[in-house]
Amino acid sequence: MINVLFAATAERWTDYEAPLRAAFAARDLAVDLRTEFAPEEVDYIVYAPNSPLQDFTPYTRCKAVLNLWAGVEAIVGNETLTQPLARMVDHGLSRGMVEWVTGHVLRHHLHIDHFLAHQDGDWDGARMIPPLAEERPVTMLGLGELGSACAQALAGLGFPVTGWSRSQKDIPGITCLSGDAGLDEALSTAQILILLLPLTPETTDLLDARRLAQLPRGAVVINPGRGPMIVDQDLVAALDSGQLRHATLDVFRTEPLPAEHPFWSHPKVTVCPHIASETRPRTAAEVVAENVSRGEAGEPLKFLVDRARGY
Ligand code: NDP
Repeated sequence: MINVLFAATAERWTDYEAPLRAAFAARDLAVDLRTEFAPEEVDYIVYAPNSPLQDFTPYTRCKAVLNLWAGVEAIVGNETLTQPLARMVDHGLSRGMVEWVTGHVLRHHLHIDHFLAHQDGDWDGARMIPPLAEERPVTMLGLGELGSACAQALAGLGFPVTGWSRSQKDIPGITCLSGDAGLDEALSTAQILILLLPLTPETTDLLDARRLAQLPRGAVVINPGRGPMIVDQDLVAALDSGQLRHATLDVFRTEPLPAEHPFWSHPKVTVCPHIASETRPRTAAEVVAENVSRGEAGEPLKFLVDRARGY
């Protein structure tokens, strides 16, 4: 019997218990799945942020911790975690992010807010012709699982897409850049900028006043990555000065975003409550089951986190 501890909130257990049981059964894995075990009996831990489990030291038999989220910033720095850590890469997560990013890019590209604000009987006042996608350069910071999928979807709609990552990439249809000089170039053309980087010490405060000033005047920032990558007050100053046209934010330094936070009432900010792309229980359960199956067969686990790199 393979003992799998589900270490997340009770609400997550409600969502994930049945899909996980089904996914283990589909792979003929004899799994005892529970929310409580004696630590020394646990073979795998399925983990999500806000879990009360913070000390991994007593889990001496545990072969891997399988994170239900793509982002691992809540666990990767935990010094008691010596077991391999895998993150979530999942079809549902990627497709959800592609849909969310594409929708918000098209909103700003087509100036949909302008037409919503001009439902007043004034035909000529409402009239404006958006440019074609091919005239609207878009930049994607991060070209991993999610960033590359979104970049390719936007390129498929005709946007000239520039992408930036730590290592140099070669993705058909995307201008791929890396390094500090690459970031300068990627920002300089970005009429719409999207952040899909992981949160690490290197990406914290990445988009500050200096970087925001490198964007073309009137640019739009869309952040489904992580809140601390943008310096909040510098973003508000850039919006107020007209340097930025709008910011659509899905993630924040403090979540839930406090009711009194200025983002809620700023006319040029759209607040989304961290819903850009949710891990989908059915498809995510299949990813977890595949990794347990690999672990039991002595095969390398998929989507292992590089602890030194932080993602
Ligand atoms: P990946 O690890 O697959 O990709 C990360 C990308 O960022 C890679 O291209 C990587 O470069 C690049 N990168 C990392 N550090 C740097 C750096 N210092 N400088 C330049 N590039 C860097 O992650 P995913 O695409 O799966 O996810 C990205 C993030 O999206 C997650 O970490 C999470 O924070 C966020 N997310 C948000 C969700 C939401 O609902 N709002 C849902 C899911 C994820 P390289 O390729 O060279 O390694």
